[in-house]
Amino acid sequence: MKRGKRKQRPICPCCNIGRHLKEMEIVVGLFQEYHDKQFPNLETKIKDQDFLQADFEWACDVCITARKAVIAIPSKQVTSGYPNMAYSDTLYTCGTCENDFLFHKEEKQLWYEKLQFSTSSIPYNCTACRKTIRKQKNENKQLSALLRKPEPELSKVELQQIIALYKEWDKPEKVAYFNSVLKKKWFLSR
Ligand SMILES: [Zn+2]
Ligand SMILES: [Zn+2]
Repeated sequence: MKRGKRKQRPICPCCNIGRHLKEMEIVVGLFQEYHDKQFPNLETKIKDQDFLQADFEWACDVCITARKAVIAIPSKQVTSGYPNMAYSDTLYTCGTCENDFLFHKEEKQLWYEKLQFSTSSIPYNCTACRKTIRKQKNENKQLSALLRKPEPELSKVELQQIIALYKEWDKPEKVAYFNSVLKKKWFLSR
């Protein structure tokens, strides 16, 4: 007996289960709507097979109904290929601390539909590292603005700010130096 080749099913990126058309009607409908708007003259019927090897995000009806995934809004996204149809949490490894972190579905909505980041951009760092990097950038900016002033013109408060920043960065020589500048200033102003 000859056995027919079994049809390959698209695997839901959220639950990792192979799904057939009846279990992915929400995203297939969304894709159809998007396609009809983009190519009004092309009468293509979207099938479950169009989701095989998809380079956009989607999820099955089960995941969307269980709120493990949220529906995306294709028209709000900036993309060079097909837009995302749904978002679910994805596990990534941080490029800085190498810890695993989740790129949450709500965060994806924010990135791709509010902040208009390209749908091909994904976070390189975990939330904690991104926060640290942002903080360091701010401190750098703050410090270089303070140091742009000639030393004799620095106020006591500014000197204290410089010392606080160097303390945080663990630079004892710099802390000692600016402490002496501060002391001198304090002494002279008395
Ligand atoms: Zn699923
Ligand atoms: Zn990290």
